[in-house]
Amino acid sequence: MDGSLESIRASTREFAEKELRRVAKLVDERNAVPEEVLRQVAEMGYFSLRVPEEYGGPGLSVLESTVVIEELSRVSSAIGIMATVSGSMVPYPIVKYGTPEQKEKYLGILAKGGIGAFALSEPCCGSDAASITTRATLEGDEIVIEGTKTYITNAPYADFFLVAVRTGREEDRHKGVSLVILDRSPCMKISKLEMMGYRGSGTSELKLEGCRTSKENLIGELNAGFKKIMMTLNEGRVTTAATGLGIMQAAFEEAFEYAKQRTSMGVPIIEHQMVQHLLAEMNMLLETSRLIVYEAARRLDAGDPDIARFSSIAKLFTASRGVDLVRMAMQVMGGIGYSKDSLVERLYRDIKMIEIGDGTNEIQRMVIVKSLRGKIRGD
Ligand SMILES: Cc1cc2nc3c(=O)[nH]c(=O)nc-3n(C[C@H](O)[C@H](O)[C@H](O)COP(=O)(O)OP(=O)(O)OC[C@H]3O[C@@H](n4cnc5c(N)ncnc54)[C@H](O)[C@@H]3O)c2cc1C
Repeated sequence: MDGSLESIRASTREFAEKELRRVAKLVDERNAVPEEVLRQVAEMGYFSLRVPEEYGGPGLSVLESTVVIEELSRVSSAIGIMATVSGSMVPYPIVKYGTPEQKEKYLGILAKGGIGAFALSEPCCGSDAASITTRATLEGDEIVIEGTKTYITNAPYADFFLVAVRTGREEDRHKGVSLVILDRSPCMKISKLEMMGYRGSGTSELKLEGCRTSKENLIGELNAGFKKIMMTLNEGRVTTAATGLGIMQAAFEEAFEYAKQRTSMGVPIIEHQMVQHLLAEMNMLLETSRLIVYEAARRLDAGDPDIARFSSIAKLFTASRGVDLVRMAMQVMGGIGYSKDSLVERLYRDIKMIEIGDGTNEIQRMVIVKSLRGKIRGD
């Protein structure tokens, strides 16, 4: 890895150890990030990772952002996923398809420490995103939005939302979907959900009751939002997988240190061949996942047209192997690993999310085969 990536890793690790380590357990327990921690994370530019320098952001590449998110998630995957959404998935469509005014305003908000959210999933449909029912209607120069989104990361903290809306007929499926920017306003009813993992990242239901936004806040053409959303998910899958790398790294470190200290039958358990087998397997899963995620990030940076396949491979591999790795870490730690006092207990809850969020494992498999059949290409 080149020197600049290593220095990004070192400075993020230093921040995470100094500022996040002491609050990570509390964030999970209280299902909330303290205000001053949010401010510190924002000041470091972690909620605006991919915002270009010309708009005041850090202007990191996908690969650089991946390393930052991995290091944040090694200590707090809640903060890591918040950075994924606000720093990568929200800027992506604005940078790529936004008008100069949208870029100036919304990338500017992120660069100044604001937070963005990405609202696609609905109670009716997550995997089947082409069936969304949240309705947007044009009224003069305004768009009026009615509907319910769910499992929306960052919602309680967000200054604005990218919202997938139905502007065409339901039977037109993906051809009737648009993407709009909606400022936070009292028309929104945000209800935080009690999730199993990534607690504190604000996963919420978002009810939109007659919310109004300017026609100028439509990203691209009317009814042409679906491809933009899918392109955003390509990047989101890689940066979400990066949170998994952080969780895997943390679980490996925890189990390895424990194996050196815990004794059984007269020797540290690391001397037992079956424990060595588990540790070697875990280390192999960690390093192979990292190689695959970094490769997908490099391909995103290079504009590879086959990126849908590689980002799905990266997320699918990290999610399924990550769940395996953390299970093994818990096994190495025995009873203490299963206790609420252990870090591995939280990591075990957190890692499972990657098999679901940003498209389930089953959906990643569908994308891989569709890509191989030439039905999905990036632009
Ligand atoms: C912690 C967390 C944070 C999230 N953050 C966000 C966010 O910020 N923004 C956002 O928009 N969404 C977010 N999500 C939602 C997430 O993207 C969806 O949960 C996910 O896409 C799955 O959708 P679903 O829950 O409706 O499951 P469903 O689509 O109902 O799927 C249920 C099961 O059926 C399977 N299935 C469905 N269709 C098929 C098919 N065609 N072939 C084979 N199997 C199929 C699925 O793989 C799954 O196993 C988040 C979710 C979680 C858990």
